Amino acid sequence: MSIGKDSLHSLFETTFGKASNVNYYFCPGRVCLIGEHLDYNGGHVLPTAVSLGIYAAVSKNSGNIIRCKSQSFENEVIIKLSEDIFPKNEDPWGNYIRGVVSYLQNTGVKIPGLDIYFASNLPHGAGLSSSAAIEVLTTFLILSETDEPIDLEKISLLCKDVENDFVGMKCGIMDQFTVALSKPNQAILLNCDNLNMSYVPVDTGDYKFIIINSNVPRSLTNSAFNTRRQECEQALAELNKKFGITSLAEATFEQVNSVGQDSPRKRAIHVVSENKRVIEAKNVLEKGDILRFGQLMKESHQSLKEFYEVTGPELDSIAENAWSIDGCIGARMTGAGFSGCCIALVKNDHIESFKETLGQRYLSQHPTPLSFHEFEMNGGVRTFQKQKFT
Ligand code: ADP
Ligand code: MG
Repeated sequence: MSIGKDSLHSLFETTFGKASNVNYYFCPGRVCLIGEHLDYNGGHVLPTAVSLGIYAAVSKNSGNIIRCKSQSFENEVIIKLSEDIFPKNEDPWGNYIRGVVSYLQNTGVKIPGLDIYFASNLPHGAGLSSSAAIEVLTTFLILSETDEPIDLEKISLLCKDVENDFVGMKCGIMDQFTVALSKPNQAILLNCDNLNMSYVPVDTGDYKFIIINSNVPRSLTNSAFNTRRQECEQALAELNKKFGITSLAEATFEQVNSVGQDSPRKRAIHVVSENKRVIEAKNVLEKGDILRFGQLMKESHQSLKEFYEVTGPELDSIAENAWSIDGCIGARMTGAGFSGCCIALVKNDHIESFKETLGQRYLSQHPTPLSFHEFEMNGGVRTFQKQKFT
């Protein structure tokens, strides 16, 4: 499904009435090609923005309020700009908007009254970072509407703070960075320890990345994500005491194998091996060795299953079935795990048969059908007036 400017405009006017001066913005979701659960462990990640994302139509209103409607949710969100802003448990999606508005106000931005309509073709709660997309999109459009300077790195950091401290989800920086800073046909190699980043051209030749959504929802805030984080902190504290290690991803295999308790040791083994895979993945992409990239995807999934224990039955079934289907040279879970999505690398002329075979096999083992999304890599958050996005 593509969402063009015209349909966005009529959705806006149906909700808020006629407006002469409407601006349009888009923020993509992202997939992590490889490098999972490394962003809060000081490792490297290799994500890219996808062409699925969230669209916004925005117009200034004459009140001192922000009014938002999202096509994906029933309730309208209203924020009074003259009052203190707090999270509301009963209104989860509004909290991303409230958090951004509140944190921008704290930095001194004078936010005018705005009507905002959101429409999306990015599944939410599926590990494709719709949360980062809604945060970065809202921040970007508010700064654009107020003619404030746009610094995409600063926007990412503010949005991460919103998600960590206002929404209460202890994610790392990868998602916000990727949806804000991606460039067309490039992945981002991000060192999450010092935020150094470089762009890596992605040319998959005869192959294409495909997103496979298990359509099994999860709620990350309440899931094992925070436990994994604590286990990594525990491993790091022990390694710091013994060897002076300050970033888990920098430890050696010998060092992580010495961690006393089982769970922290297993998490640390994944972190160290995955970090090595990301560096190799960047090198093989640069060399155009796409077959080796596919193998690294498979090794990554196996490590996430065995050592990080975040894959779950649906994602294992998708990845493990995919590996054996003609034309597929690699597949892995992407995102935080616990259901959500996988990504597969499939030969162009096998894509249709791949989808059919995998969809059928999966359905013989699980009740909910898969959905498949092909995507382009068109870059990060942006404004648009004329283009149509697909
Ligand atoms: P993910 O980031 O993997 O999609 P999260 O649970 O982190 O999953 O974030 C999903 C939440 O982000 C949704 O439950 C909703 O609150 C918010 N969100 C995502 N997309 C939209 C949208 N189009 N409109 C409004 N809120 C959205
Ligand atoms: Mg999220």
